[in-house]
Amino acid sequence: MSAKYVYSFGGKTADGDGKMKELLGGKGANLAEMCKIGIPVPPGFTITTEVCAAYYEQGKKIPDATVPQIDEALKKVEAEFGKKFGDPADPLLVSVRSGAALSMPGMMNTILNLGLTDASVEGLAKKTGNDRFAYDSYRRLIDMFGSTAMGLEHEHFEHELHSMKEAKGVKLDTDLSADDLKELVKRYKAVYKKDVGEDFPQDPKKQLMLAINAVFNSWNGHKAIEYRRIERITGLKGTAVNVQAMVFGNMGGGSGTGVAFTRDPNTGEDVFYGDYLINAQGEDVVAGIRTPEPISKLGEDMPKVYEQLVGIRAALEKHYKEMQDIEFTVQEGVLFMLQTRTGKRTGTAAVRIAVEMVKEGLIDETTAVKRVAPDSLNHLLQPQLDPKAKNKPVAQGIAASPGAASGMVLLSAEAVVAHAEKHPNDPILLVRKETSPEDVAGMHLAKGILTSTGGKASHAAVVARGWGKPCVVGCEAVKIDEAAQTVTIAGTVVKAGEFVTINGTTGDVMIGKVPTVPPSMTGDFATLMTWADKVRKLKIRTNADSPADAAKAREFGAEGIGLCRTEHMFFGKDRIAAVREMILAPDVEGRTKALAKIEPFQKADFVGLFEVMDGLPVTIRLLDPPLHEFLPQKDNVAGAEEVAKQTGTTVEKIFERVEELHEMNPMMGFRGCRLPLVFPEIGDMQVRAIIEAAIEVKKKGKSVLPEIMIPLVGVVEELAILKKRAIAVAEECMKQAGVKVEYQIGTMIELPRACIAADKIAEEAEFFSFGTNDLTQMTFGFSRDDIKGFMPTYLRDKILPIDPFQTIDFNGVGELMKIGIQKGRGSRTAKHSQHLKVGICGEHGGDPDSVVFCHAIGMDYVSCSPFRVPIARLAAAQAALGEAGKRDK
Ligand code: ADP
Ligand code: MG
Ligand code: MG
Repeated sequence: MSAKYVYSFGGKTADGDGKMKELLGGKGANLAEMCKIGIPVPPGFTITTEVCAAYYEQGKKIPDATVPQIDEALKKVEAEFGKKFGDPADPLLVSVRSGAALSMPGMMNTILNLGLTDASVEGLAKKTGNDRFAYDSYRRLIDMFGSTAMGLEHEHFEHELHSMKEAKGVKLDTDLSADDLKELVKRYKAVYKKDVGEDFPQDPKKQLMLAINAVFNSWNGHKAIEYRRIERITGLKGTAVNVQAMVFGNMGGGSGTGVAFTRDPNTGEDVFYGDYLINAQGEDVVAGIRTPEPISKLGEDMPKVYEQLVGIRAALEKHYKEMQDIEFTVQEGVLFMLQTRTGKRTGTAAVRIAVEMVKEGLIDETTAVKRVAPDSLNHLLQPQLDPKAKNKPVAQGIAASPGAASGMVLLSAEAVVAHAEKHPNDPILLVRKETSPEDVAGMHLAKGILTSTGGKASHAAVVARGWGKPCVVGCEAVKIDEAAQTVTIAGTVVKAGEFVTINGTTGDVMIGKVPTVPPSMTGDFATLMTWADKVRKLKIRTNADSPADAAKAREFGAEGIGLCRTEHMFFGKDRIAAVREMILAPDVEGRTKALAKIEPFQKADFVGLFEVMDGLPVTIRLLDPPLHEFLPQKDNVAGAEEVAKQTGTTVEKIFERVEELHEMNPMMGFRGCRLPLVFPEIGDMQVRAIIEAAIEVKKKGKSVLPEIMIPLVGVVEELAILKKRAIAVAEECMKQAGVKVEYQIGTMIELPRACIAADKIAEEAEFFSFGTNDLTQMTFGFSRDDIKGFMPTYLRDKILPIDPFQTIDFNGVGELMKIGIQKGRGSRTAKHSQHLKVGICGEHGGDPDSVVFCHAIGMDYVSCSPFRVPIARLAAAQAALGEAGKRDK
């Protein structure tokens, strides 16, 4: 094999660069890039992701051709660094680090100080004159190598460390003396030997090869698989391995290590944001063992280093034109950068950073629009804590990820998973001392996370931020008692299952449930939206049944109502009795009488909607669900008694009717257009209410654009009959009022037959609106309420790439949609020389990937719930820019 498997970096040169993430992983590519732009990086090399793929193809064996390339690259590092790997007198030590194309924080383990042995630890101590440092490094290696490469329990090492600290009466690792650490190394080696059955390897090359294997193995470790599942990461070759010369932050008071973001990842504010620890190494800052210092304090401790770091912060932002998440180490006053990557941020921060970077001239408006993941806007669309709420904060921690969350307290990630399985809708607040990668499944299901230790860069903070989940960390007033299943917060005892509220924007913790108020769209958010609107082609409408929802949606930029479900109005307290009377009526006369009672309510509802929408199109769907949904269930005697009283009939009569209306499969039963075909008076009443409402609003001088939508049409005749009847009713209303209003009659396309026969249907329909919930259900033959039993298996085994009720199934349902649009538009143009307006009103209308698909197949608009309107606007803009899907995850 002659391929290049190993890429060197160091000095001001590198074989690779920042664009080679696929091959070198994000970490490796950016280490190379930083070298190239003159940022100080310890030399090293990257073994490519292709080697990882080959490793698995060959039954967990590294391809032979890689080994000489590793030797070669190691020689280069030795030359650059002036030390030899395995030299007992002055050893070159290395770190072995994982790194895939997409960052998977904390998912794979890093081994530091590799190359140390019983012999070279002595050499290192002599050479540096620092015994403490040498043995601290060695005990860390045995721990990291043991737990990462050999799968030992880190806890077994931790246990030794604890008993040593206890015996010496010290609190911090850094308080242990050189002799203590020497003793600790002995004990660590004993743990290693006991658990592995062999001595800790004394051959540095063997250590290296085992460590490289370990990184490759971690690619398919439980944590990594879980993370990829949650983040929907697929199609990667594997992880790269980075082997890099060690620099030491644990050499004493003039050394340290830190992590930082070039801007605040919570709010997006242009401030340097991070933590560091003096005399520490690697993950110490993140682990929450010692409380780290804020980055600004480095300015006092090491002014020169700080100044240089601030310069690098600016240089990186200027180079990458993006907010960066960086890792650095200072060895006796000399600064080294160990990592840079695009920083994860909350939706709020994403918007602010994008808008401010445009103002700073770093990026242009279209780049800003492409930068923000549509779903991340959710973060700005969360309800905010009601400022007038009575609950006062009882404690304060570090505001780690903004937003408010009220939830039932649970004390372990497993408990969250178990609870959510049974009660998926319960809001849960995960409360822990700290979190670790094992906890991600539970963290994902929780509404918010509260920890008693840890800083801004702790695991909980980083992960929560990535998901836009409210999080407060380091709240020392929180005392957890797992055995008793209680938490005590500033003196108040809260039992597991009781409510606590956190405000991740301020760090406040409150006892109980705190009321919330809806969010609003202002400032940078509004600015970004106007930029999105400049480029998008799709119109965005909303699904709204009430004037209040419609008003909120307009505030968020909705350009019409794509779906008003009239049945929701039927359930109103003041009208359900009349609805039931209508259903129970034995004949047309009875039904007509009851319908007359409902009509004024319907009309008033429509007047409200038309007024709010003020001339924007309003699509109103005629009654869709089967009638028995409005009656009590078969065994609900109490409910039936109440209805009997309301409607002046008997319980027996009600149950008789319930029995008559009973259906084996209501989704495919007597519903949709089938209702007004059998009971025309129902349709007549609804059409009259719509047109009379439109007339009334028009008389007030406003314009109105009603679109009457007939659901569940499969054959054109259904539509033809109902349309004819609707026109007759509408004409009659207008004649009586002496006012003309414009209106359209169209249909929902939600049956496979309707897609196939769309050319025929379009001869009658003036618009199509794809009801993709039903269309998905009918196409797959999956009842959308009954997928629990098999969908998890389908997704796990990749039978389906994604739940088709969340994102349109492009290849099946999507193909039907394409056929429907093509045939429908073709015949409408041919027959009526008219453009057939096409939209979507299923849940998919608010799903960014589905919006992109709707753009691609030439729809005119998508319609989604009010709070997803901004998300759809942004997704539509990105679709128009052709950038969707290419975004950095
Ligand atoms: P992760 O992918 O979890 O961020 P890293 O590979 O970045 O893991 O390693 C974790 C930490 O280990 C780094 O932040 C850094 O502090 C430390 N580290 C890694 N390589 C070196 C090195 N060559 N010299 C000193 N510290 C290192
Ligand atoms: Mg790691
Ligand atoms: Mg890192």
